[in-house]
Amino acid sequence: MQLIWLRNDLRVDDNTALAAACQRGPTVALWVASPGQWLAHDDAPCKVDFWLRNLRLLRQSLAALNIPLLIRQVDTWEDVPQCVLDVCRQHSIEAVHWNEEYGINETRRDEATRNLLQHAGIGATAHLDQLLFRPGSVLTRAGQYFQVFSQFKRVCLEHLHRSLPSLVPPVRSQEMLGIHGDAIPEHIEGFEAPSDALRQHWPAGEDEARQRLQRFVDETVEDYAQLRDLPAKAGTSQLSPYLAAGVVSPRQCLHAALGSNRGEFDSGSVGVQTWVNELLWREFYKHTLVGYPRVSRHRAFRPHTEALPWRDAPGDLQAWKEGRTGFPIIDAAMRQLLHTGWMHNRLRMIVAMFLSKNLLIDWRYGERHFMRHLIDGDLAANNGGWQWSASTGTDAVPYFRIFNPVTQSQRFDPKGMFIRRWLPELKGRDDKSIHYPVKSPDLFATNNYSGPIVDLDSSRQRALEAFKSLSSWQDQGA
Ligand code: FAD
Repeated sequence: MQLIWLRNDLRVDDNTALAAACQRGPTVALWVASPGQWLAHDDAPCKVDFWLRNLRLLRQSLAALNIPLLIRQVDTWEDVPQCVLDVCRQHSIEAVHWNEEYGINETRRDEATRNLLQHAGIGATAHLDQLLFRPGSVLTRAGQYFQVFSQFKRVCLEHLHRSLPSLVPPVRSQEMLGIHGDAIPEHIEGFEAPSDALRQHWPAGEDEARQRLQRFVDETVEDYAQLRDLPAKAGTSQLSPYLAAGVVSPRQCLHAALGSNRGEFDSGSVGVQTWVNELLWREFYKHTLVGYPRVSRHRAFRPHTEALPWRDAPGDLQAWKEGRTGFPIIDAAMRQLLHTGWMHNRLRMIVAMFLSKNLLIDWRYGERHFMRHLIDGDLAANNGGWQWSASTGTDAVPYFRIFNPVTQSQRFDPKGMFIRRWLPELKGRDDKSIHYPVKSPDLFATNNYSGPIVDLDSSRQRALEAFKSLSSWQDQGA
């Protein structure tokens, strides 16, 4: 008997470990809840709920193939190896299969599990599934992990030209095993259920992910390069929660995009090329996590930036978290996050830069707040995005290129449609003053929207001076 240990790969289609297990023989599936670990990792309640909702549908899909899904619960990943071994002994398992996960704690958990299983004479095989390229397979000539995205991407595209990762064959139904699957918990202690509206915004299941992908490819990808920066438009795929939980695979995304572009990924449709580029950013940050494990420990990729004189400003941090900064685009974005568990990429960059530069608050506070609320929270992408915005990361924005939230707002939400959706108190504003209500003559007419918590010019100067005070910026040409 084989065991597929499911983690962030909650799907039946194109699941490498599941297909490998089923090919070897009759298979049982296992999923282990570990609430203590999730709390330590700041996993958002809406993300945990999304896992449970997906598991309910996955349980049905597996049942249709006669694969029972077992559910176990431990506190932290320290208890996982013994838990997996107990399941193996209970069901006379010969080999366990799982899809690789990256990050220090994930790697330690898997190594410990493998060792324990091997001591017990049980096989353990890890499969490449979450990424197109295994970390360590895309390196510089000197054998280092890339630090510059464009160079990483060039090598990835060369690999794709040589051989495109193919989808794994569908799993066939097996004989009934006579093992009963377990019920999926309705709710896990310590993780509050999200609102119905949030749940409706992110329906669970592979069918939903497939439809979103197809709809995006049929209707939007062509214009993705123009639409992707406009938060008022549904111009991106909104697949990130599904990719993060493994409800859809990056191979499925890549093949769908190629299918709409005569098999091309770096020519033809500019929209497809731009989207593939984003899928490669996802790869880049996961490779960075493996190649530079300090980022997995919330350390700056550029160690000298650890010396930045961050401000201790709990009031400002709280205003940022609650969407009360007095900058409409920032406040609308932060409210989108709180209500939907998701934020548009352009806005993630704007709010992250505002916190780390204008407020000069340590990016790690922002990273944690995001993780605690994002339904697509992913250590590699979140850390990468935060360190990019704070100019502390790989291939980060140069510290002197500080976004001005008002001009960003005018440029990417020109009619204020996004702002109006999330800040009803500004609904009546004209298209010009909505970006910066404090500058408008009828300032005191709207007393239900607070004034700005920081002056943009002087806070920009303060950030520039803080960064300049660091000794080594030679690599940014400043
Ligand atoms: P699309 O534009 O349709 O892109 C397709 C897919 O590519 C996404 O679903 C995602 O998996 C990947 N992708 C796109 N952009 C990036 C990127 N810049 N970095 C890495 N992967 C990318 N993404 C997460 O998945 N989880 C996070 O926790 C996360 N935190 C972020 C924090 C900050 C400060 C920033 C600036 C970005 C963060 N991102 C994160 C990246 C990006 O914002 C989201 O992936 C994107 O907004 C998801 O929307 P979409 O699915 O419509 O993306």
